[in-house]
Amino acid sequence: MHELGIMFNVIRTVETFAQQNGVEKIDTLVLLVGELSPVVPHYLEACYPAAVDGTLLQETKLRIEIMPGNALCKPCNLVFNLLENHKLCPQCCKAEWEILSGQEFMIKEILAC
Ligand SMILES: [Zn+2]
Repeated sequence: MHELGIMFNVIRTVETFAQQNGVEKIDTLVLLVGELSPVVPHYLEACYPAAVDGTLLQETKLRIEIMPGNALCKPCNLVFNLLENHKLCPQCCKAEWEILSGQEFMIKEILAC
């Protein structure tokens, strides 16, 4: 479980941003996690309270938005969800595709109070 380390990095980044911009309190931290990224949202949520304890984000709510893992099928140009279709194109049943989205992990928004 590497989520705790990731969470510490996120918190450090947000704290630095807050200090540089004179933000004293943050209401909500919004993270964007791709379905295909190795980061597990459930684990992020689980370690969040411990990770923010004693930091600027102690009272900050965590919101995680999921980016669907979509791929473009090269033979037939269909865009489809990789996980829902077990990594096979539902139209031509081929597995020759390129990933369009779903691998991202980023701080999407910091909502001030
Ligand atoms: Zn196809």
